[in-house]
Amino acid sequence: MSIPFIDFREQNRLIAAEVDTGFKKVFEKGDYILGEQARLFEEAFARYCEAKHGVGVNSGTDALHLALLALGIDENDEVILPTHTFIATALCVSFCRAKPVFVDVEPDTYNIDPEAFRKAITKKTKAVIPVHIYGQPANMDEITSIAREHGIKVVEDAAQAHGSRYKNRRVGSLGDVACFSFYPTKSLGACGDAGMIVTSDKGIYERALMLRDYGRQGRYEHKIKGTNSRLDTIQAVILNAKLKHLDQWNQMRAKNAAAYAELLKPLKDVVAPVTKPDRTHVFQTYAVLVPNRDKVMEAMKAQGIGVLIHYPIGLHLQEAYAELGYKKGDFPVAEKVADQVMSLPMFPHMTREQVETVVAALKKSL
Ligand SMILES: *Cc1c(COP(=O)(O)O)cnc(C)c1O
Repeated sequence: MSIPFIDFREQNRLIAAEVDTGFKKVFEKGDYILGEQARLFEEAFARYCEAKHGVGVNSGTDALHLALLALGIDENDEVILPTHTFIATALCVSFCRAKPVFVDVEPDTYNIDPEAFRKAITKKTKAVIPVHIYGQPANMDEITSIAREHGIKVVEDAAQAHGSRYKNRRVGSLGDVACFSFYPTKSLGACGDAGMIVTSDKGIYERALMLRDYGRQGRYEHKIKGTNSRLDTIQAVILNAKLKHLDQWNQMRAKNAAAYAELLKPLKDVVAPVTKPDRTHVFQTYAVLVPNRDKVMEAMKAQGIGVLIHYPIGLHLQEAYAELGYKKGDFPVAEKVADQVMSLPMFPHMTREQVETVVAALKKSL
């Protein structure tokens, strides 16, 4: 039995009728840009995150970029972020002409190490971007308290963690501003690119609104230099329909993760994800560490199992950031994760039998 990395057919079936009706309404109304469904989704998703405001944008990358611009990040500023993340977390800093400063991650959660963050702070540090990697919130109390001490803004990269909780609070409400992606494979995904800035800070909200719409306030007045990055009304129809199911789908992911954890236990060479007791993990990605990762991965693929790597190269070792002068060995924990990490198939409607098949294939591959 071959098993894809992701299979959303069942999810699509559940929302098909609602999406159909929603599309028809948008076509009739013609409010394609910042239309009613987009506004409703901004409100609904901000409420879901237990935050006051949502600003829908074109992608998660734009959400990060515009959030940093809204905070005033500029040339000569430094922004600290973990080296083990998707490159967009760093690109948004570069797009503001500021300098990304990479730090190592925690060995158990693979999230930013608060002590490493503290040590990397300089007079130029203006913001920190904790990434809730794979769906588990970073150590937010430590990070926000260090940040407050030094007057540093906290930008959550929540692109992988829609709906997870830290000390019973939702991600999206844990820093000054949070950024979400609705890229199709995220646990809340559109049928194209989409993203959102979520914040309870009125000033950030108002600047983000202008930044995504040519710096406009009113129709003809442009107060600042903004860009064009708006959530499509059509995508919002899909996202509104899916949001109603998100908590249930996250529970289904957690159930699959529990099945994985139970079945992986006898495989002593495999390190399964660790969830800290004070937070929930939504398992957007089910990432394990395995020895001889590249060989194991080939063997998995040969058995028809969809596996991927998130992420094989730390940002400090990417060619795009060669100018920063980092070298191999700078971040030993993140480098070990990058060498050994492998993502197993994970989607809400995965069956117990499919999880068993994946684990059996992994056992054979080791
Ligand atoms: C997906 C992702 C992004 C970028 O989102 P896009 O919508 O693809 O631009 C940023 N950060 C992290 C951690 C991501 O997983």
